[in-house]
Amino acid sequence: MATSIRTKQEPKVVVADAVARLRQTFDRGTTKPVAWRLRQLRALKQLLLERGGELERALATDLGKSGTEAQITEIGLLVGEIDHTLKHLKRWVRPRRVAVPLTLAPASASVVAEPVGVVLVIGPWNYPVQLCIGPVIGALAAGDAILLKPSELAPATSAALARLLPEYLDDRAVAVVEGDAEVATALLAERFDHIFYTGGAAVGKVVARAAAEHLTPITLELGGKSPVYVDDTVDLADAARRIVWGKLMNAGQTCVAPDYLLATRSVADRLVPYLRDAIAALYGPDPADSADYGRIISDRHFARVSGLLDGLEPALGGGVDASERYIAPTVVNGVDASASIMQEEIFGPILPILHVSGLEQAIAHIRAGEKPLALYVFSDDRATRKRFTRDTSSGALAFGVPAAHLLVPGLPFGGVGASGMGAYHGRHSFDTFSHAKAVFSKPLSPDTLSLVYPPFTEARDRI
Ligand code: NAD
Repeated sequence: MATSIRTKQEPKVVVADAVARLRQTFDRGTTKPVAWRLRQLRALKQLLLERGGELERALATDLGKSGTEAQITEIGLLVGEIDHTLKHLKRWVRPRRVAVPLTLAPASASVVAEPVGVVLVIGPWNYPVQLCIGPVIGALAAGDAILLKPSELAPATSAALARLLPEYLDDRAVAVVEGDAEVATALLAERFDHIFYTGGAAVGKVVARAAAEHLTPITLELGGKSPVYVDDTVDLADAARRIVWGKLMNAGQTCVAPDYLLATRSVADRLVPYLRDAIAALYGPDPADSADYGRIISDRHFARVSGLLDGLEPALGGGVDASERYIAPTVVNGVDASASIMQEEIFGPILPILHVSGLEQAIAHIRAGEKPLALYVFSDDRATRKRFTRDTSSGALAFGVPAAHLLVPGLPFGGVGASGMGAYHGRHSFDTFSHAKAVFSKPLSPDTLSLVYPPFTEARDRI
């Protein structure tokens, strides 16, 4: 049974107690055996399978997320991640022999993955199940003790995690602490062996500063503006369907959602009707009535996202309903690069199109900004694809489909530059939460090192 703590009283004391308990468990070696790790992972899978309904209901309450979307993008994805980890963990934990240079022979060398200790996972609200439990899978696999703090902005999901994890996991090694920035601040004052943060860059900096105090390694899964480039070598109807799917899932509140589109005016003008058709095909004539179309997380976020439309003329959509925190799927064809919608991550269902003269200008625009978390290219031209691969930098580069790369467990998921540091998923999660310890062994005899012992004048004679 995992521990779950819900309190507003003296978060410092509560948090310090929780961390001390986890530290004690880790120091006792409870979490190290591979059998323990496998048991925890199987229990976590059982939770997802048996209690997925409760998580679905929480996600519907917090985000108006449909059950099917919750299964595809959160719960099912995690089950796949656990299965992958269960399948490979015994191989990942095996020490990896590495070659020893002849000058040091006879000797042996290997890399041993050891758990780092007690880790802190701070989760966001947008995929509050996936992005809280995903890192926990990696930390369990690595044999760490874990303190999880879900986002207070998804309170139903936070409460569900705090209720359910204790029922399935080892309470000596896994604790859930609910709370807001005050609790997070108290947590960050503690000493952890790794901090894994998912969320916006502003808080990412707070986390990095706090981690520096203890020289704690961090993984920052941040966001930013992920561009999409479309040219006229692809079928625009097919491209539009994929773009709309990636943009509108979770009402655009997806870190890897296409943020904005780059296209020539001619491609953009031809694409817009296909975007309209795709929106209607996926969400019906009025997305407000669709059970599959989500809502904006909070009034504050609603005000921010809808405010980005000020002064713009949508080609599609544009309707908002504050009482429901509803923002219609919206496309703005032709925005100025200096418009406020082009300055910050939108994180909502609005797709601005920035007209460019072609490939060169698109690449120049991307290179002039922060490195994105993801970059999507819709082009069948090999030279164009090569140019994006060679001349742009992003956490991920995907051709022909947004967001789906994170379903490939073999691919590292993470940002670069302002979109984050470090990565996880599959083996990369295991590595993130492990220390790769160098283990070297050389027999005392024969003492081949005698060749390099001082006095060096004599040593030279010996060589
Ligand atoms: P959020 O508001 O849920 O915050 C994330 C976490 O930070 C929460 O647990 C919150 O309690 C905590 N927090 C808030 N203030 C804090 C403080 N002062 N000190 C310490 N912790 C604090 O998330 P958000 O920032 O609104 O999330 C949206 C952003 O997250 C977007 O930029 C999005 O792109 C990014 N994101 C990235 C990924 C990824 O995997 N790279 C995934 C999801 C979201």
